[in-house]
Amino acid sequence: MRTALVTGANRGIGFAVAQALGRKGMRVVLTGRDAGSVQAAVESLRAEGMDAMGETIDLVSPESIRDCARRLDASGVEVHVLINNGAIEPSADALHATDEEIETTLRTNLLGAWYTCRAFVPAMIARGYGRVVNVSSDFGSFDRGLGGGAPYSVSKAALNALTVKLAQAIPQGVDVKVNCLNPGWVRTRMGGPDATKSPEEGAETVVWLATLPADGPHGGFFQDHEPLGW
Ligand code: NAP
Repeated sequence: MRTALVTGANRGIGFAVAQALGRKGMRVVLTGRDAGSVQAAVESLRAEGMDAMGETIDLVSPESIRDCARRLDASGVEVHVLINNGAIEPSADALHATDEEIETTLRTNLLGAWYTCRAFVPAMIARGYGRVVNVSSDFGSFDRGLGGGAPYSVSKAALNALTVKLAQAIPQGVDVKVNCLNPGWVRTRMGGPDATKSPEEGAETVVWLATLPADGPHGGFFQDHEPLGW
């Protein structure tokens, strides 16, 4: 049985991704910074008969990422699929964003994903299989004009760059694929009630990239299963 670890899985798109992967028969490790809401999410998936477990990862804390990896390793849980989903979206522009907004956004949205990759991808390479999906945004796309608040947009553009650099770090011939995507405008706390997609619809391309066959894409940026301009 394959195991998928999802960051920011207690609600929103992250929860919908965990649920969809669980329905496909994967074991799912739901992670988040708030143990209570993670546990509630785990219980709701277990009530559907899924093999779900909860873990604490606060993306601003590299130590919490390393601790989670150590705990999973000690209990023999191998992570085959990594979904870097957790994020925050302050709306300030480049001149008005506070130190705190800039630093926390980059640590959460960029460095958190980078450190989870460092924690889990080497073992994927050693085992010869892995799927990494970085949940980005069209606000991180130069091609789409880098919309939205500055810390968020810069963090997602950098997450896209990280996706390419990670893909380049996978040895030739090893079936570990790294991709990123824009989920579209999704009805979550971040997207708001007027967004056009349900969380389940927002999860669809994530699930596709998490379950790619060996001849699937590597190092790409997608929306609705189609390539998106960087
Ligand atoms: P959301 O409902 O606001 O959920 C964000 C998730 O990230 C929550 O689980 C939140 O946990 C978690 N998170 C925030 N800071 C964290 C931290 N320091 N450590 C661990 N987890 C943390 O947003 P969403 O719409 O589901 O967004 C999911 C992904 O889709 C994000 O990467 C977002 O940038 C991307 N996206 C969303 C939209 C959209 O329209 N919704 C559009 C484009 C891209 P807490 O409950 O603890 O806060």
